[in-house]
Amino acid sequence: MAETTFENVAIIGAGTMGHGIAQVCAMAGMEVRLFDLADEALQAGLDKIHANLDKGVDRGKVSESLRDETLMRLAGTTELETAVDGADLVVEAVPEVLELKRTLFGTIESLVDEDTVLGTNTSSLSVASIAESIERPERLVGLHFFNPVHIMKLLEVISHPGTSDDVMTKIRSFGSEIGKESIYVKDFPGFATSRLGVCLGMEAIRMFEQGVASAADIDTAMVLGYRHPVGPLKLTDMVGLDVRMHIGEYLAQELGNTAFEPPELMRTMVREGRLGKKSGSGFYDWD
Ligand code: NAD
Repeated sequence: MAETTFENVAIIGAGTMGHGIAQVCAMAGMEVRLFDLADEALQAGLDKIHANLDKGVDRGKVSESLRDETLMRLAGTTELETAVDGADLVVEAVPEVLELKRTLFGTIESLVDEDTVLGTNTSSLSVASIAESIERPERLVGLHFFNPVHIMKLLEVISHPGTSDDVMTKIRSFGSEIGKESIYVKDFPGFATSRLGVCLGMEAIRMFEQGVASAADIDTAMVLGYRHPVGPLKLTDMVGLDVRMHIGEYLAQELGNTAFEPPELMRTMVREGRLGKKSGSGFYDWD
């Protein structure tokens, strides 16, 4: 394996995004520790990595030796201190709640070395306001991955005004080492991706709520009529309705635009636990 910019990486949160980020880092040759609060969430994340790699082998996309080496470079823990010990990069993928991320980074900074780089996988939140929670904000950068991480080629890198040049140089190399194409975006609510994607998703939910067409037909309209690879309702299911609802609430407030306001139907579905793919049902049945 070629040398990588970061050798030891900690991923915080083993959900939809965290397990995928852990997988691509381990596949690129980095030693990875994956952390979640509870055994169950951690094990579910590790199981998904196993399943992804096995599927890759079955399809001839991943060699058996790469699968085995990747798994050997990967460890799971429910102790934050163990996860970040000796890490030169820590990437956070916990729920899209500003205070949660701020508190978490405050704790992480007290446990890591001075020059450990910190990345947040936020989809929309101000990277600068997350950086305000730490003593060395120049080490924090937005690393916005896409779902499913092992398939999607894009890495959206968000620098805030204080992010250091040294961190940006390292992140440029990191992006290509994990096989992603990076775009570099200003720290503005919703960045270059979520602002457009979430707007479309919210409008599609409103159309479904108004009975304009079935979920499948609204999605087919965008897939066949506009050549989108996946329709906005199916994508909302894949992202997670709770995740998108948080992003919508934040963007509605920050951009002063009601188009981002989560529709009542979305709030009801989230309350009922119909979160999309991860819960088994959303606009579609995933079982
Ligand atoms: P998720 O709900 O699937 O997973 C979140 C995980 O974080 C859970 O396993 C949960 O147990 C864990 N967690 C909660 N609090 C924690 C804490 N204090 N410490 C450690 N772990 C904790 O969420 P997700 O979809 O993976 O989203 C995570 C982040 O990634 C969010 O900021 C989201 O906006 C962003 N994101 C999501 C997508 C997507 O498609 N789902 C895409 C890009 C970015």
